[in-house]
Amino acid sequence: MSKAIYEYHKINELIPGPSRWNFYGKIIFMCNIADQLLLLLKDETSSMYVYMNSKDNKEPIVGLKLRQVIRIHRGNVRRNPTTNTKEGVVQVEMAGCHFVAWPHFGDANNPISKSSKNWTKSDIDQEKINELSELGNDQPITKAEELAIQLVSHREKTRNDDTVRNWWKMSKIESEQSSARKARELSLISIGDPVEMDNEYDIDDSSFLESNAQDFLQFVINCPGCLKKYKTVWYISDESKEECFKCKQKVQCKVAVRVKLKFETHNIYFTFPIELVKNKECYSYIEKLIASDGTPEHVDEIHKFQETVKEALQNFCLTKIKGMVVAKSNKLKFVDIYLFNCKLLRLTR
Ligand SMILES: [Zn+2]
Repeated sequence: MSKAIYEYHKINELIPGPSRWNFYGKIIFMCNIADQLLLLLKDETSSMYVYMNSKDNKEPIVGLKLRQVIRIHRGNVRRNPTTNTKEGVVQVEMAGCHFVAWPHFGDANNPISKSSKNWTKSDIDQEKINELSELGNDQPITKAEELAIQLVSHREKTRNDDTVRNWWKMSKIESEQSSARKARELSLISIGDPVEMDNEYDIDDSSFLESNAQDFLQFVINCPGCLKKYKTVWYISDESKEECFKCKQKVQCKVAVRVKLKFETHNIYFTFPIELVKNKECYSYIEKLIASDGTPEHVDEIHKFQETVKEALQNFCLTKIKGMVVAKSNKLKFVDIYLFNCKLLRLTR
């Protein structure tokens, strides 16, 4: 850790052009576009898309998750001619460009992901982490957020068009209606509130796509103290810790997976400890993973893990779920539900 003085700007102060900028933002949306990681960052003034590129464009940037607070040093800002919005470009190590990210309400001294070992700590890091973690949904919607919503609804629309062509149109419509009901039901639950349902939930195959590898493997701290105090579990990106990063209680970190549910209308995810879906192949792989004392370092590895879990979950749906809502965005129709418990049910449909 070294110290230097940087001048930071709010997102609405960034001007497209040759200058390089230092700024903070909260990750409120992320996706992969043509092998590039795209983040939507928000601060109290505005929001902006930021393309994240690793040093040589080969090794993926790992560890970034929704709701984290990210700080960018010497990032570029350009104007997107198609959408007429400004967007950020982070090319790690190019002209001293670097990023540091912290968990939601994290400790400034413990970044969860960073592009440089010798990262610079700034005096306002903690203040910004707290401020941006608290950033609510009540601000007016920005053009960039509108685009994120369009992106999501466009994907839904494309899927609907395909569905109409389906031979099973009638039975589909029926199951879609009940599916929409199930999705709506889950989307109405507030952050921190318990979820307890006996419905059957189908897993969307897109969960197992290589492009979703980053979001698939999760490490979760389910700390009883924090669960009571903050009404949340913590998603972290380092599984070797044996204590709660927030209150330092001794607690075992769990290897979990995040799957997207098969809903046309909402983006609903279940994150659950892999032990809930015990399966021989799956387990031996996880044991190897933990024995090697580290997270899978390459997307290839995570993808192999995805494949084993996919096999374990194939032909099953999830039911009898007990959990809580950990993250949600009404605008993006996004909900992340952590499951403390669930059952696998073999599909007969
Ligand atoms: Zn704790």
